[in-house]
Amino acid sequence: MELIDGKQISEEIKKEIAVKTSAIIDAGGEPPHLAAILVGEDPASQTYVASKERSCKAVGITSSIYRYPANISEELLLEAVDFLNNDEEVNGFIVQLPLPKHINADKVLQRISPAKDVDGFHPVNMGRLALGLPSYLPATPAGIMLLLEKSGIETEGKHCVILGRSNIVGTPMSLLMSRKSNPGNSTVTLCHSKTKNLSEITRQADILIAAIGQPEFVKADMVKAGAVVIDVGIHRIEDSSEKGYHITGDVDFDAVAPKCSYITPVPGGVGPMTIVSLLLNTFKSFNKEIYF
Ligand code: NAP
Repeated sequence: MELIDGKQISEEIKKEIAVKTSAIIDAGGEPPHLAAILVGEDPASQTYVASKERSCKAVGITSSIYRYPANISEELLLEAVDFLNNDEEVNGFIVQLPLPKHINADKVLQRISPAKDVDGFHPVNMGRLALGLPSYLPATPAGIMLLLEKSGIETEGKHCVILGRSNIVGTPMSLLMSRKSNPGNSTVTLCHSKTKNLSEITRQADILIAAIGQPEFVKADMVKAGAVVIDVGIHRIEDSSEKGYHITGDVDFDAVAPKCSYITPVPGGVGPMTIVSLLLNTFKSFNKEIYF
């Protein structure tokens, strides 16, 4: 079994990004600029945004956070989105989810200019993804594609089973893995909560991608010997350790790992790649690589 070290792979890509950023600054230019809108005090959201800010700093990308109280009206939040859409100094921005219940998140995400939608959640970017056209790819699936590529994992003609059909992970992942590309060219099965005989399907997977949001759901008897297992889940489980918690994924790592050819750990697998993909998308926007 080989561990796919997302932390190390992400550090290597970050170094490459830092070199490009330095070159821009050395030539007298302004570095790319990523902004984030953060609404309310949700601790997980605060952690994610802080971590994105740290990663930007580490590679020389400018970052700014626009904080709003949880009781901000939808109208004012849409105005904040418009402001960033029109701010020529900002190359790309994200709206950290989840948003408070009184705000229609779809409406807010759809207000983001597709050209600045570095999270890749806008219908224009999702539609382009489905059609195989250039687009900003959602960060987590894009990060997984990079992990597969950098680890030299063969995907062509393989049966890829994806657990979970969310718009941010499972669905775009299924589109990318079935694309005529490398990585890609897989035969994809997309499973969800209404799937029958789930274990029978997962046992057929050459590549199993778990994104269902259930801690340690994937057990050893659900995995074929020699499979590649990618664990997208992140769960904070309270325990009696000094820290008071540990982080686990959607896969029962200790039981499943010995059966795999490759597996991602949690933490240190998919998570670090998600942020790197966001940085790469910001660079794409800076370079105007995608035409809208
Ligand atoms: P989500 O929106 O909650 O979607 C979960 C999906 O799993 C749904 O499609 C659901 O089916 C399916 N599902 C739930 N229980 C199931 C079951 N028992 N059997 C089969 N399918 C089941 O989750 P998400 O946003 O995609 O996130 C998934 C996990 O990845 C979470 O742990 C999240 O924290 C993590 N995550 C990690 C990163 C990262 O950077 N590493 C990024 C994003 C998310 P239905 O559609 O039928 O409800």
